[in-house]
Amino acid sequence: MQQIASLIRDVPDFPKPGVMFRDITPLLADAGGFARCIDALAQPWQGSGVQAVCGIESRGFIFGAALAQKLHAGFVPLRKPNKLPPPVVSVDYQLEYGVDRLEARNDALRPGERVLIVDDVLATGGTLAAARALVLKLGAQLVGASVVIELAALQGRARWPDEGAPLHALLRY
Ligand code: IMP
Repeated sequence: MQQIASLIRDVPDFPKPGVMFRDITPLLADAGGFARCIDALAQPWQGSGVQAVCGIESRGFIFGAALAQKLHAGFVPLRKPNKLPPPVVSVDYQLEYGVDRLEARNDALRPGERVLIVDDVLATGGTLAAARALVLKLGAQLVGASVVIELAALQGRARWPDEGAPLHALLRY
């Protein structure tokens, strides 16, 4: 895990003053590090019968697609507004300033399909909570969620009710 952590670049004051941005691109560029990261993300879910991995736009696509292959599951993108052709199902969520929305095709998941949600970073937890609501709105069964990085000070985990669908983080800051 130390080796994966060493491939995350800390960028102070980005995208605005006072924010420490965790840049995952050096991890993606390192073949061994990226492979170990996907192995570690997959480990808690081996044998749990995950049928679909839902990745959150955009960095959740990168980790989610690789993880789906590893778990022999399908991949479903949860997208930002107006990217998918209709009909879509959507969930609005609050940002620090304003609202955002996640969308999926209305037939993206089968009723009861066993779903794992994936994103790169858990910050305040709003994005993951919206993804959860969207998956449930589609009638699927939530197995859990994985993130590469949890920014623990922002307490996003408090917005994820465990209820038999655990949230795993590889690295915590
Ligand atoms: P939340 O909704 O506040 O938990 O923010 C999570 C979303 O913001 C994720 O989709 C991340 O991609 C993005 N995000 C927040 N902080 C960072 C960061 O430091 N590095 C990369 N992405 C971040």
